[in-house]
Amino acid sequence: MRVLLVEDDEPIAESLTRGLSRYGFEVRWVRTGAEALEAGDFALVLVDLGLPDMDGLDVCRELRARGDVPIIVISARSDEVDRVVGLEIGADDYVTKPFGVREVVARMRAVLRRVQPARAEQEPVQEHGRLRIDRRGRRVHLDGAEVDLTPKEFDLLVFLAEEPGAVFTREQIMEAVWDENWFGPTKTLDVHVGVLRRKLGDAASLETVRGVGFRLVLT
Ligand code: CA
Repeated sequence: MRVLLVEDDEPIAESLTRGLSRYGFEVRWVRTGAEALEAGDFALVLVDLGLPDMDGLDVCRELRARGDVPIIVISARSDEVDRVVGLEIGADDYVTKPFGVREVVARMRAVLRRVQPARAEQEPVQEHGRLRIDRRGRRVHLDGAEVDLTPKEFDLLVFLAEEPGAVFTREQIMEAVWDENWFGPTKTLDVHVGVLRRKLGDAASLETVRGVGFRLVLT
């Protein structure tokens, strides 16, 4: 998922870029408001309020006037006024410096969930070649025959099938499918991936991306 980071503070921008890419986000970093407004379309924008060329709030206002991209304000100013103004002009949430990457990711996911209602509601049945995933009915068919999946195997498949071809990190998968606060070993993930591979045969390939995570490629 492509994210625009508007931040003039280099150490903060670098650590955030590094941290977010570990979670599978593709970060484009710009230092000024002008660059941000010329950067094009992104799935989400993180905007620092204190920019060298313009007020971050004006960047938010302009982005909001153009469309409904989710915006999270990064603020060094901790006073309530900025937060309220930020949210009033259309930012979806804010984080106050100093912050940890995990906190930013949690906010980003919460905002994305709010603005993009669960895919299941918009598109309950997904057809991918030989595979048919019925999210509401929690059933999967392969070449017309139902595949017997445990609840976790189903959740794992549905999560990866949200964006076929995209790499999801082990952390992302563990958090989404197992537990919001999972920081432990991820052996159980490998076991489930192995079982899914067997059950789906050559209709889908669950590719291991070494050192990162997994991607689902549908054939
Ligand atoms: Ca700044």
